[in-house]
Amino acid sequence: MGTLQNELPIVWRHDVENGIYEEARVGRVFNHKRPKRYPRAVVQASEEAHVICAVRLAVELGCRVSARFGGHSWAAWSVRDDAILIDLGNYHHIEFDEDKQIIIISPSTTGKVLADFLSTKSVMFYGGHCPDVGLGGFLLQGGMGWNCKNWGWACEQIAAIDCVTAKGQLVHCDATHHQDLYWAARGAGPGFLGVVTKFYLNVSPSYSNILSSTFIYPVSEYRKVLDWVVKIAPSFDEDTEIVSVACIPAGAPALSGSCILANFLTFKNSDEAARTALKSVPRAPEKQEAVEEVDEREDFNKPTHTDGREPPRSIITYVV
Ligand SMILES: Cc1cc2nc3c(=O)[nH]c(=O)nc-3n(C[C@H](O)[C@H](O)[C@H](O)COP(=O)(O)OP(=O)(O)OC[C@H]3O[C@@H](n4cnc5c(N)ncnc54)[C@H](O)[C@@H]3O)c2cc1C
Repeated sequence: MGTLQNELPIVWRHDVENGIYEEARVGRVFNHKRPKRYPRAVVQASEEAHVICAVRLAVELGCRVSARFGGHSWAAWSVRDDAILIDLGNYHHIEFDEDKQIIIISPSTTGKVLADFLSTKSVMFYGGHCPDVGLGGFLLQGGMGWNCKNWGWACEQIAAIDCVTAKGQLVHCDATHHQDLYWAARGAGPGFLGVVTKFYLNVSPSYSNILSSTFIYPVSEYRKVLDWVVKIAPSFDEDTEIVSVACIPAGAPALSGSCILANFLTFKNSDEAARTALKSVPRAPEKQEAVEEVDEREDFNKPTHTDGREPPRSIITYVV
């Protein structure tokens, strides 16, 4: 055990200054409501060998293993009492197999990093909407990515995984090898039975013209807006994602306070096709008569908020 410990970038609960342990325990957790759960140690893995070593150490110590990719689990599932927490935030791997049209990533790769990497390759992955979510946690729990209702769950694009089993063995899992683990990787979420070290993902051709149309209403109109969206969605154009969420729009000239929006984001290969799809959105419910159109951009090559700026958009309509 001593040798194993010497090889690992490990922070023990009782051996270090409290600040260092605290940072390792929750520093990368998105939710700032911190859990009162205390792992025995945190391994800050930067390579696959660290993961193998950490799992074997946990076996020797007889304690549980928990894992963290992007830290965006709202319930902070990665933080478990007396566990060896394996944090893969420092482990970075990304490569594209052009012949097989497969992208191979380490699990802490974020949607932003992947979208940036693929942006020059004419392909895309149906990743999550928030740029900083780890693809690992997103994929294991199913993954509601771009246009999920029409294109399917992101986890359906998992071609294979590499993972470290509970006995500390690194295995490759796909439709013909370790099928049980491959099956579980597509929906087991925090209940997954190993620690994933790589995902092999199918990619799809990207779109040259991605446009959106957003309708924003006072939140008091939520019933009308949701009824409208629910009625349209089942039969609307299949390359258009429809999302309705509550928001407080920044700098909205026509509305202030809580609002409800309906966003139509269409993925097409010509400007004309994109505009035609958006023009076919049935007439929005109006509270009064005022409609204001602002902000039109022509060039939307990346179907994601890749750089933390505003999402791709074309027309915003405030209905006041
Ligand atoms: C702001 C925000 C926006 C979101 N947007 C979307 C969205 O558009 N679509 C969507 O579907 N979801 C979305 N989610 C939910 C998100 O996908 C899940 O919370 C997901 O679990 C986060 O993944 P993570 O890797 O960042 O989190 P982590 O907390 O790092 O990981 C989540 C859990 O996955 C398991 N895990 C982590 N690493 C490993 C490993 N190496 N091996 C095995 N298991 C492991 C662990 O149980 C871990 O606790 C969003 C969440 C937030 C906070």
